[in-house]
Amino acid sequence: MSNITFTMIKPDAVKAGHIGGILDKICAAGFRIKAMKMTKLSMETAGKFYEVHSARPFYGELCEFMSSGHIVAAILEKDNAIADFRTLIGATNPAEAAEGTIRKMYATSIGENAVHGSDSDDNAIIEGNFFFSGLEKF
Ligand code: GDP
Repeated sequence: MSNITFTMIKPDAVKAGHIGGILDKICAAGFRIKAMKMTKLSMETAGKFYEVHSARPFYGELCEFMSSGHIVAAILEKDNAIADFRTLIGATNPAEAAEGTIRKMYATSIGENAVHGSDSDDNAIIEGNFFFSGLEKF
């Protein structure tokens, strides 16, 4: 089991001024920041990142949204990182997310849901490498 996950604070949460609140929750939950940057995806880079969802009906909408503003990308470290981070962020749809989760607090819809969290150890590595070089991970 790896102890790494990858996250993005999505454009909706960045625009709404929630970077600080979200990072506070992440750090309070015991995650260590291994890498972090603010950046902006193009339609093309968003399309590559979410290629696994390319057959899903919301793919176009997802890429439009994810390239609509700045994001904060980060690699996080903690024991049981994947599962613990998914618990911290809550269900994909904020209407179904548990009380106190990041998506319950900050997300507005199933599409504009404030944060990304990797769904497997393998994807955490792939996603982290998508954004960060070896020189940017600590
Ligand atoms: P996650 O692992 O909880 O992020 O959820 P998924 O892997 O199922 O979906 C990836 C992302 O696609 C989600 O975080 C949402 O931003 C978006 N998404 C998922 N379902 C929908 C949907 O029904 N409509 C739209 N517009 N976006 C969606």
